[in-house]
Amino acid sequence: PGTLHVVATPIGNLGDLSARALETLKTVDAICAEDTRHTRQLLSHFGLERPLIALHEHNEDAQAAQLVARLQGGESFALVSDAGTPLVSDPGFRLVRAARAAGVRVSPVPGACAAIAALSVAGMPSDRFVFEGFLPAKASARRERLSRLTSEVRTLIFYESAHRIEESLDDLVAAFGDARRGTIARELTKLFETVLDGTLEELRARVRADANQRKGEFVVIVEGAGEDADASVAEGKRLYAKLTEYLK
Ligand code: SAM
Repeated sequence: PGTLHVVATPIGNLGDLSARALETLKTVDAICAEDTRHTRQLLSHFGLERPLIALHEHNEDAQAAQLVARLQGGESFALVSDAGTPLVSDPGFRLVRAARAAGVRVSPVPGACAAIAALSVAGMPSDRFVFEGFLPAKASARRERLSRLTSEVRTLIFYESAHRIEESLDDLVAAFGDARRGTIARELTKLFETVLDGTLEELRARVRADANQRKGEFVVIVEGAGEDADASVAEGKRLYAKLTEYLK
């Protein structure tokens, strides 16, 4: 059988396509792409032309069966998304699962990922973190999601788009409080790359004040609830227990 290569592509700067990614894209029988037009442009930038197969949310289940049959027949494919690492807030999970279930080799060609790139420059604790991807589009669902994350002690990573960044910052301030610290990493590896940090309230104020800060693509990082908060709550509980014991 052939191999399914899961290939990361740049999140902005085309120089981030790795040598091995280029070699892989050159040699596979076909490339499964989220948006074939977008990927054709990437290929043409590197002077490549390969057969492209559309693989997106709406056809992934149907395509997966056919693609796995072709992989079993000996063809090799690359899986790419529009930007960064496939499967990370992008299609591919069903195809990878189906290929693995069929015993087809699935091999990564790692590279850019916006969440990890942002974490690497945020200056936030990074030994433990949770990737929350995109928050729900509906306000009620978004607030509900955030309310379940307020006592999370690990660093939180969110993806956000230009049209919802302001609303999301409002909800983040409401959920985590205005003093919680955060980082907004915008347009990473691109011309207008900016990394802002401060309290969530400060970040919201900066984004509100400057229309440029609302353009492009965003990774929002929120510091975890922190051992301090945990420790003071634990200390409070300990004192309370002692006091009730004493008052008995
Ligand atoms: N698979 C991609 C990855 O590995 O990062 C993520 C795809 S997701 C559909 C797109 C989101 O990723 C954007 O809305 C934004 O939150 C984030 N993103 C992608 N490129 C970015 C960049 N250059 N700077 C900041 N965030 C970016």
